[in-house]
Amino acid sequence: MKIKKIILAAVVLLAGFNTSAQETKTSAEIEEKASDLLSKMTLEEKVGQMTQVTLDVIGEGENIYSSFEPFNLDKELVRKAVSEYKVGSFLNTANNRALPRQKWHEIISEIQEINSEENELNIPIIYGVDEIHGATYTVGATMFPQQIGQAASRNPELVKKGAEITAYETRASGIPWNFSPVLDLGMDPRFSRMWESFGEDPYLTSVLGVAMIDGYEGEDNNIGDPHHLASTMKHFLGYHAVTSGKDRTPAYIPDDVLREYHLPAFKAAIDAGSHTIMINSGLINGKPVHANYDLLTKLLKEELNFEGLVVTDWADIENLHRRDRVAENDKEAIKMAVNAGIDMSMVPYEYERFVDNLLELVKEGEVKESRIDDAVKRILKVKLALNLFEVPVTHYKDYPKFGSEEFEQEAFNMAAESITLLKNESDVLPLEKDVKVLVTGPNANSMRTLNGAWTYSWQGEKTPEFAADYNTILEAVENKLGKENVIFEAGVNYKNDGKYFEEEDAGIADAVKQAENVDYIFLVLGENSYTEKPGDLNDLYISDLQTKLAKELAATGKPVILILNEGRPRIISKFEQEMQAVVQTYLPGNFGGDALADILFGDINPSGKLPYTYPRYPNALIPYIHKPSEEQTKAEGVYNYEADFNPQYPFGFGLSYTDFEVSDLQIDKTDITQNDTFTVSVKLSNTGNRSGKEVVEVYSSDLYASEITPDVKRLRKFRKVELAAGETKTIEFSINTSDLASVNPKGETMAEPGEFEISVNDLKKSIHLKE
Ligand code: BGC
Repeated sequence: MKIKKIILAAVVLLAGFNTSAQETKTSAEIEEKASDLLSKMTLEEKVGQMTQVTLDVIGEGENIYSSFEPFNLDKELVRKAVSEYKVGSFLNTANNRALPRQKWHEIISEIQEINSEENELNIPIIYGVDEIHGATYTVGATMFPQQIGQAASRNPELVKKGAEITAYETRASGIPWNFSPVLDLGMDPRFSRMWESFGEDPYLTSVLGVAMIDGYEGEDNNIGDPHHLASTMKHFLGYHAVTSGKDRTPAYIPDDVLREYHLPAFKAAIDAGSHTIMINSGLINGKPVHANYDLLTKLLKEELNFEGLVVTDWADIENLHRRDRVAENDKEAIKMAVNAGIDMSMVPYEYERFVDNLLELVKEGEVKESRIDDAVKRILKVKLALNLFEVPVTHYKDYPKFGSEEFEQEAFNMAAESITLLKNESDVLPLEKDVKVLVTGPNANSMRTLNGAWTYSWQGEKTPEFAADYNTILEAVENKLGKENVIFEAGVNYKNDGKYFEEEDAGIADAVKQAENVDYIFLVLGENSYTEKPGDLNDLYISDLQTKLAKELAATGKPVILILNEGRPRIISKFEQEMQAVVQTYLPGNFGGDALADILFGDINPSGKLPYTYPRYPNALIPYIHKPSEEQTKAEGVYNYEADFNPQYPFGFGLSYTDFEVSDLQIDKTDITQNDTFTVSVKLSNTGNRSGKEVVEVYSSDLYASEITPDVKRLRKFRKVELAAGETKTIEFSINTSDLASVNPKGETMAEPGEFEISVNDLKKSIHLKE
């Protein structure tokens, strides 16, 4: 035992790697080594590999749910988990707070060390964390805009770069597995996790999801490279499509809808080689997804040929019994989930119950050992691909660029490209730098709201403690104008010890009074940070107090620039018409304040585009993907109704300080066949007087389809292009017939013969798909 410990300590110490010397295993080698290991494992070792436990369980503390501060491992508890129960994976931070990377190194090294002492086969543990917009749980890491903002950038290169940096900083924390990206469609603004998604469009989600995975895993998915890590596609599938709009409540999704909208991003990500996937915690058509054999085994593993690791979401096996009541007891729940296709259970607390029950189930023949072998082999393959056997923990000393200015610049660039100008009456923006401004609103001076949840803590409430050195919007504006030209009155505050939506009047009257002393008002409204169940919402209108502040400020006659800082589009139609300009920042991260100030004062030309449809009314939550009856023009005769599709701002909308014109739409073919490729081109001109970036989007409309009514239009391609003032470029897109496909009633994805319309802005051309 002792000798082994020394060897491992040496490995840990020598973990100073030389990338070129890293052994890259072929998939055949990985397969062979996994089979070899599997053949030597006892049933107890196999079941342990399928078990994932949260860090607090093995920390010194009064109970398994929390630990003493500062955090220390309880060696006996670690030993019990890895030796007695052979636990193969751990997750999450302790006490719901970020840790320094040195501490992460100490914790993970110690677990690996004890595991190695106790485990004859020396199978390393795999540690997983949610590092969803930067290394969430590492002090000093680079925080990017959340995914919703990244989607607004329409810039896959920047998304990839951000993921590369996140992978680097996560590995600098000794962590090789990241529970990201979210590939759910953010199509319902009522849902508390819309901002964790790339928005409402399946194609946009696919392209950016693949870019993020390429950044995390490397284009060749060589996750043994210590600058990359294993990504997790989540939450498979249809997680946001709930009827009530509330987290983890039932969704009713017909098969064609599931395949048409919710599946494509997962399919693209599986094809891009993502190594792991996490399952939707909710129910589809009454059935918990964690117990759904058709989705987990038939669709995911067989049809989509996913060969990686399937992990549950938090406590979702016991939820089959304790919450969803499809299993009479915990043991039955475990049987259902494992037989449905789950490979690893994020238990996360009472792991003994999971291990003991699963062992019994195998011995009783209720779960076949072949199912266990399949699960364990998938887990071992990920561990082997990550080179964990050679380097069980990477060392922070090998990551000198952690938190560097170079990385921060990339986070800033992403924020700058995501911020979206939604209204600019009389070109009020950009402002000169010799103005006096009032900065007001609950989000004006908050690092917590700039980042949103999953930042230093789960709900983001600990952000002020860790992000004090970065600039809030107020501070960034003061840096531009000088403190003497900026007046701050919050007007409204969030109650930081209450629910995330609770607010208080912090002096609305004072803010209104100060308006007379300034030229412009920066009104910064939105939401406090939230996610998951605590983020459920009952009223999509922006709060009454914030509405009051907006209306009273507008009544002063001073121009109001509304700056939104929110995870989902909270409705602003009660006062939007009284605002001179509207700027959406989403959740732009630690550099969002600086990027915004550069945009407000013209140092950067905005180029973000909405990744969702911004609704005007709570009863009109219709995304841009919809059926013709949802935007019907006036009918003839007595029943002369019309259907009013009239969002506040449409999907894809975003203004610039320069003017762009699209002209000369050309398609090189008028008739196409199945498996054909055709070229769509347009001329894009910058007719204004400053350089800027514009996004060209190509949509298709299937004019008539059999049985299933076609969508009005669908995004098929997009590209972000930079143009100097006066410059014109021809932009070409190569489109395949399969890009026009939709799912038919038989569940097949195909383009039906007939007429299609191809459009770019208002330009349209027809193309005919032959029988
Ligand atoms: C969330 C997941 C997350 C997991 C682990 C769950 O509650 O739904 O998105 O990856 O916790 O932290």
